[in-house]
Amino acid sequence: SAPVIETRGLGYVYNPGLPTEKVALRDVNLQIERGEFVGVIGQTGSGKSTLIQQLNGLLRPTSGQVLIDGEDIWQDKEQLRRFRFKVGLCFQYPEYQLFEESVYKDISFGPKNMGLSEGEVDARVRDAARFVGLGEEMLDKSPFELSGGQKRRVAIAGVLAMDPEVLILDEPTAGLDPRGRDMILGQIKAYHAEKGNTVLLVSHSMEDVAKFATKVLVLNDTGVLLYGTVDEVFSRAEEIRAIGLGIPQITQVFRALRQRGYPVSDTVYTVAQA
Ligand code: ADP
Repeated sequence: SAPVIETRGLGYVYNPGLPTEKVALRDVNLQIERGEFVGVIGQTGSGKSTLIQQLNGLLRPTSGQVLIDGEDIWQDKEQLRRFRFKVGLCFQYPEYQLFEESVYKDISFGPKNMGLSEGEVDARVRDAARFVGLGEEMLDKSPFELSGGQKRRVAIAGVLAMDPEVLILDEPTAGLDPRGRDMILGQIKAYHAEKGNTVLLVSHSMEDVAKFATKVLVLNDTGVLLYGTVDEVFSRAEEIRAIGLGIPQITQVFRALRQRGYPVSDTVYTVAQA
């Protein structure tokens, strides 16, 4: 069957024809299979946010195609709406978008717009709240009474409640303390394990990617530098340094990979440090 996400010759240019013209992505050819947990990494400005906005149809490619389940998402306007429901995108600091008077209403906003019955919406809300560890007693509270970490979880639940086939999270742990970070990543991992959906996690933490991802997508200023399994990508010593990993991070990455049972060779480790 078709990969869940495919891009063909995908490119994006900001402000074409103007003095401020900027090529953000060039000729990206990707195939992501269903059920992968993809860590998306690359330095600031490498095009991560441009790419994920293209994957759910928020930005229209200036060249090439985005295919979800084998279909070009821009083939017609009616279809586009359907694809936006299939690919759930959770922005950085998503809690700034909470606006309803209760947690319940905020989480139900997306599924309500999908034309589901009240009963289905209710089941979605409760399921999503459970995934992010929000108890029933939280549902009637105002989101504004909650802590930063709790607000973040409400916002993520709002995307989960749409039951997207592909879940994309842009730095979901940004600004949280280590405990809050571990909690959210653990919940995303459990969600992925239970649902078997495809997850894309944009992260600047190589350690988090090494701990949770099955595949890694590395972007650089010209497009996709590498796409492969975590051990493949992190074992490419010559590129590891190009993606900005210092020795402390390399140590953490290799420790995380070893803990997951990947055979990471000492030779590669030594080369990476050289
Ligand atoms: P990342 O998410 O990896 O930091 P972005 O996708 O935000 O990268 O940016 C890719 C490139 O496109 C960068 O050079 C950035 O400056 C440029 N860019 C992003 N958004 C805009 C915009 N609205 N107008 C002009 N250039 C932009």
